[in-house]
Amino acid sequence: MFTPVKSRSVIVTGGSKGIGKGIARAFVREGADVLIAARDEGTLRAAAAELAAGAQGRVETAVADVSRVEDCRRLAETAVERFGGIDVLCANAGVFPDKPLAELTEADVDDVLGCNLKGTMFSVQACMEALEASRHGRVVVTSSITGPITGYPGWSHYGASKAAQLGFLRTAAIELAPRQITINAIMPGNIATEGLSDMGEDYIRATEACIPQHRLGSVDDIGNAALFFASDEAGYITGQTLVVDGGQVLPESPAALEGI
Ligand code: NAP
Repeated sequence: MFTPVKSRSVIVTGGSKGIGKGIARAFVREGADVLIAARDEGTLRAAAAELAAGAQGRVETAVADVSRVEDCRRLAETAVERFGGIDVLCANAGVFPDKPLAELTEADVDDVLGCNLKGTMFSVQACMEALEASRHGRVVVTSSITGPITGYPGWSHYGASKAAQLGFLRTAAIELAPRQITINAIMPGNIATEGLSDMGEDYIRATEACIPQHRLGSVDDIGNAALFFASDEAGYITGQTLVVDGGQVLPESPAALEGI
């Protein structure tokens, strides 16, 4: 059994929907106090009400755009004010608009890198001091299989941002180690979320056919992985990645799944 995360202070960026809400639910279920952050206040409030129902820990909200350094600082300050410190940062906020490389504009690239890469880097930077003060600080980054391992037409900028998160993580892990902070990344495959459902039924059916387990992942699958990285028992693991994808990256070709 893992040491409980009860009463630990946890920030989840992008915690109002999808994977972030699933991560928040996993921590709240275990009695942690969770601050969820996103840009839209209404969605945040609805998510907090849903998460608080039957929760052991407290659920609070903070409106923040992680692509803005100042918002990242305010977010960290809010967690310290409300919960007395920060034990865990789940840097999860991300966007994945699709556009072919031939049509990409500078603004498209800035938007995706601004949220997915800059948002990750500056939310970690903003929380460093409080995470160090906890003496067991944990950062869990939501990356993706897309970019670091796989590719998909329309997601060249998105894939670049997700691979870049891992480049950041490996040096950050070294700089954070003397502060007793670990940083690791989850690489989800295709997870059933509001964001993914926008891709349409055809995309979802075609994707399920390519996954050895023949189902999309659930947000709980990712929440459980985040809980593991946040545990005391994972304290000697840093700078690492965990693919959570039902085996999606494994088949060498469609033939590998024939009859499976
Ligand atoms: P989602 O359902 O669209 O949720 C995205 C969350 O991030 C929302 O809470 C959104 O709220 C927030 N957000 C977006 N931009 C933000 C910003 N600039 N500042 C603060 N919050 C922001 O997406 P998801 O599928 O859960 O994806 C979450 C993470 O998982 C992303 O990093 C994504 O790359 C990664 N991922 C997802 C999948 C998948 O299959 N779903 C697979 C691999 C990796 P607001 O819009 O209100 O800000």
